[in-house]
Amino acid sequence: MTRSVLVLNSGSSSVKYAVVNPDSGVLVADGIVERIGESGGGGSGSAGVADHAEAMQVVFDSLAADGHGLDDLDLVAVGHRVVHGGPDLYRPTVIDDAAIARLKELSPLAPLHNPPAIQGIEVARAALPDLPHIAVFDTAFFHDLPPAAATYAIDAEVAQSRHIRRYGFHGTSHQYVSEQAAVFLDAPLESLSQIVLHLGNGASASAIVGGRPVETSMGLTPMEGLVMGTRSGDVDPGLIFYLWREAGMSVEDIESMLNRRSGVRGLGGEVDFRVLHQLMGSESEKERAAAQLAYDVYIHRLRKYIGAYLAVLGSADVLTFTAGVGENDAAVRRDALSGLTAFGIELDEHLNDSPARGARRISPDGAPTTVLVIPTDEELAIARACAGVLGGRLGDG
Ligand code: ADP
Repeated sequence: MTRSVLVLNSGSSSVKYAVVNPDSGVLVADGIVERIGESGGGGSGSAGVADHAEAMQVVFDSLAADGHGLDDLDLVAVGHRVVHGGPDLYRPTVIDDAAIARLKELSPLAPLHNPPAIQGIEVARAALPDLPHIAVFDTAFFHDLPPAAATYAIDAEVAQSRHIRRYGFHGTSHQYVSEQAAVFLDAPLESLSQIVLHLGNGASASAIVGGRPVETSMGLTPMEGLVMGTRSGDVDPGLIFYLWREAGMSVEDIESMLNRRSGVRGLGGEVDFRVLHQLMGSESEKERAAAQLAYDVYIHRLRKYIGAYLAVLGSADVLTFTAGVGENDAAVRRDALSGLTAFGIELDEHLNDSPARGARRISPDGAPTTVLVIPTDEELAIARACAGVLGGRLGDG
C-alpha cells in the first residue's frame, strides 16, 4: 500500500506540511513554508511568499523538487490541523461548505489560530478539489473532559451563551503519546493512569485515566496553564484589567503581550531552550539572572502542575515527556521531577542524560511511576485520523 495523506498545519505566517503513509507510518516528505506575507520570506529556495495561495504552490513545488510529483504520491486525503473546534466540532470532520461556515463562526474563539487555518483549507481545497479534505481538531481529545475539569467558576449563563469552557489543546499529541506509552509498556491503555507533559514552544499537561483525559492545562484558549516559549500561561485575570485601565494598553496589545512577548521569552529574552541554557551561563550578570529566572519560573509552574495532577489521579503509572523541550532537554526533565520519590517518581540519571532518540524509559527499573520520553508525531496521528474517517471509502488503497 502506498496511499498517503497530505497533512497541513496552516498558521498566520507559516504552513507546515507532511506527506504521511497512514498505514506504515512512513513520512514520505515534509517541510515548512515560512514568513508568509513578509517580504523576502519563503520556503527552501523560494524568493517570497505573498499569501497562503502562493504558499500552497511552494508546497507543491518543494514536493516536486524532492521527486514527489502529486501524481506519484497517491494522495487519498488532505488532513488539516485546526486548533479550535468549539463546542460541537470535535470528531475529524470532512470539510464541505457548511463545515467552513461553522469554522468561520468559531473564529472569535481562536482569533489567532483559526482564521489562518481556514485560509489554508480554502486554498488547499481549491488546489486539490478532487480529494477529501478533513479537519482534525486540537481540542478533540478533550471534548469529554469531566465537567468539574471543563468548567470555569464564572456566571453560568454567560459561560453557556458564549460557549466558555476549558477546551484543552494539543489533544492530538496527548492522545497519540498516551497511546504510544501503553504500546511501549505493552499494557492495556484502559489500565493506565498517565500524566503527559507536552513541552514544545507551546506547552501543556494532561492527566489521563484509561485513555480518557480527566484534566488538561490549557483552557478556553491555548494561553492557560504552563509557562511556554512566548505565552505566559496562568496569570491572574485581574492583570488584564489593570493593564487596560492603568497602563493604557488596548485589548489587542495585552493579548499580543501575553501570547508573543511573555513566557520564557518575556522573562529571559529567548524562546529556544538550547539558547536559554547558554544564557544561564552568560558572562553578563544581567543576562544570566534573567535567563535563570525564566528557567526557574518555567520549572516551578511545571512542578505545580505535576503535583496537581498527581492529586487528581491519586497516583500515576506513567509520566511521559514529549515535544521539543520534553524530548530533548534532560535538565528540564531532571528539575521537573527532582525530590518526588515520595510520590513514586524517580529518574535514572544515566538514562535521562542519554542522547538516545525514540521512545524510551528514563526511570529506574521497578519504580512505581514509569517515566518515559516519547517523540510526538501529530502529523501521523492526523493522517491516521483521516484514514479512519475514510476507512470504508479508501478500501485497501
Ligand atoms: P512547536 O510547539 O513549535 O511544535 P516543538 O515541539 O518543535 O515546538 O519544540 C520547539 C522547542 O523545543 C524549541 O523552541 C526549543 O526550545 C526546544 N528544543 C528543541 N531541540 C532542543 C534541544 N536539543 N534541547 C533543548 N531544547 C530543545
